[in-house]
Formats: sequence, structure tokens, C-alpha cells
Amino acid sequence: MARTNATWLGKADPEVSAHPPTGWQPWPLCQFILKVHSRCDLRCDYCYVYEMSDQSWKSRPRRISKTVVADTAARIAEHAHTHRIPAVHVILHGGEPLLAGADHIAHTVRAIRQALDPGIRLDVSLQSNGMRLDEDFLRLFDELGVRVGLSLDGDAEGHDRHRRRGDGRGSHADVVAALDLLTGRYRHLYGGLLCTVDLRNDPIRTYEALLESGPPRIDFLLPHGNWEEPPPGLPADGATPYADWLIPVFDRWYAAPRRETEVRLFADILRLLLGGRSSGEAVGLSPARMVVVETDGTIEQSDTLKSAYPGAPVTGFHVSRDSFDAVLRHPAVMARQLGRDALAGECQSCPIVRVCGGGLYAHRYRPGSGFGNPSVYCHDLFRLITHIRGVVERDVAALLEGRR
Ligand code: SF4
Repeated sequence: MARTNATWLGKADPEVSAHPPTGWQPWPLCQFILKVHSRCDLRCDYCYVYEMSDQSWKSRPRRISKTVVADTAARIAEHAHTHRIPAVHVILHGGEPLLAGADHIAHTVRAIRQALDPGIRLDVSLQSNGMRLDEDFLRLFDELGVRVGLSLDGDAEGHDRHRRRGDGRGSHADVVAALDLLTGRYRHLYGGLLCTVDLRNDPIRTYEALLESGPPRIDFLLPHGNWEEPPPGLPADGATPYADWLIPVFDRWYAAPRRETEVRLFADILRLLLGGRSSGEAVGLSPARMVVVETDGTIEQSDTLKSAYPGAPVTGFHVSRDSFDAVLRHPAVMARQLGRDALAGECQSCPIVRVCGGGLYAHRYRPGSGFGNPSVYCHDLFRLITHIRGVVERDVAALLEGRR
């Protein structure tokens, strides 16, 4: 099924979008990102919600209403029931989700839990900038079983370069204070850290700063960009500055005498090299099974698409009238479930396609050909993955020779 340049890889073509490929069965959704608040108390300069192409946040309600919460809970329950999904994962997101307030967050979690069939597990996590995380919130999250992930870009210098308040002051000290609280008697709620890579930061110093709070997991995020708006510092000459930044971190992480943390990108690449599946969408060919519900109840694709062009995540569906099954028939959602068949020709013939998977969907965008392109990070992904493969191959060879 060669569909390399089909328009449904990019913006929807109504002729194509009405007809899913013959025999194709969608994968049910199992991860629901719920925007409980659409504003933020930081002004991070790389934020894809406020600082990039899509500016839809301006027209959305600040806080999700109880009506939208009820509709969303019913739709999640319906989807889980229809597909006999044993567990669903809800991520409370924003903007900054803590701006929704403790009572509203508690109501949201309880409404979803009540709507689900008994026996379906509900995992809830919350991704915060840490500015408002206090003892009261943590006590509530303990009661509700909500895990908390925080955003931290490394040491104070690296973090405060981007993650600032409206008046320009950095937020590093507040995040560190939030981490101190979280890693005290609430450590069992600690989900991990998100760190956006900045080439100006020293990779090992950044990694070691992240390790200070003992995170169970670190997610390194590549700054969002695409072929029209390339990420910062990415030249067009095939140089690989992001791989060059990540490789020393991988080597440090891999060679550690004991497991310090899970670095999701590295662990996913290792799993994929060994024939397994990835846990996220950054690499690999796993079908996308995640959807976003905005504060106004509109159902959207991944938020990261906001970096491509205005309206890129739009599906046209709404929790008040549309089931999540309807969303599965949206052409762009289908494209993200089709694995290798939906990739650009260069990716389909790439020797590492099963591991790379064409990279994050948003990073493939180019005006004219939509998302039917290799990742703008193609050279970096190739270098990083082949480096990790080389390390594993050397290890296996040494093992077979009895040197380890
Ligand atoms: S390395 Fe490049 S060509 Fe290969 S799968 Fe990844 S994005 Fe596609």
C-alpha cells in the first residue's frame, strides 16, 4: 500500500478522507489529554500553545466547565466499554492545569472515575510547571491517586533562559521548591520530568541537574519545529547538533553502574532495537492512541501539531455530540495509526525506519506536502539511533566473546 504522497497525510482531502483503507481497523484510544485550564502563569518562549502558529487558546474558555467534564467522562467511559479497554490514562493538562483549582480538579477526576465501568482502571496524571504546587494540592493528589510530572530544563541558567514569568523573572527556584515538596512524603506521586533540549546548555550538566530530585523518568523533548520553521540551531547541511547533544547523555546514562532513572527516548530506542514497542510517539511505529479534549469540549489531535500551522490539530468533533469512535475515522488520526504505510518514501526505505518511525508527527510538516515527509530531525535521529545500535551491538559481541 504505497501512499507516500497521499494528501491525507497532510491536510484533509474530503475525497480521500471519507474512505478508510480497505480492511483497516482502528486502534482504540487509551490516552486522553484533558485541558482543564487554557492559560498559563509562565511565558515560556518556546511554548507550542502560546508562541507558535496556532493561537486558538485565545478563544477558548479559561477553565473546563462541569458540563464538558461530564460529557468527556461519558465519552471516555463509552469508548472504554465499547472496546473493552482494561485501563485508560487521563492526563490533566493546560496551559497550567493547577490554575483550574483544587475543587475543580477533584470534581474532574471523580466524575471520570464514576463514569467508568467497575473494573476499568483509571490512571490519572498531571503535567505542571510547578509554580503552584503546594501541600494542599499534593494532599489532594494523594487522596485521588494523581501522579505529578513537572517541567524542568536543567540547572537554573538553562531553565530560566526560557521558562519565565510575564515580568521576565525565571521560575527555576519555584520548581525546585515544588520538587522538594513532591519528593518528600509524596514521592510515590512523582511521575518524572520533562526537559526541552537547548543546544546552549551543557548536556551532562543538564542531565545531572535533572537527576538531583531522583526522577523515575526523564523525557527529553526536542524543540518543536518543521521544514518551514526549523528548530533552533538546526542547520540545513546535514549536521546533527541535537544528536551530538543527546549522545553524551545516552553514554552517561547507559554506562551508569546502577539505573539512575528511565530516559524515555533512550529506553524506547533500546526497546525498539530489541524488537519491542515504544511507549510514546517520538520514535517507533506504534499507532497513535492519544487524543486531546480542549477546555471548550472540542476534540483535537496532539497539541504538538499547533507548532505546524493554525488549526492543524482540529478534528471538527466535540464531546457533546461525537464519540471517540468517530474520531478514529478522522483521516489524520488514521494516518497516525497506519505505521510504516503512512510514512514518506524516504522513511519507508530507510534502514532504521522500524526504530525511528519518521520521528514525531509534528516535526514532519512542510507546506505543500503536509506531514508526508521525514522528520526535520531526520539526520539527528539517524545518528542517535545508529549510535545506540552500535553500543548495543558492541555489548552483545563482547558478551558472546565472554568479555562481560
Ligand atoms: S531517520 Fe529519517 S528517513 Fe529514516 S525513518 Fe527517521 S525520519 Fe525517516
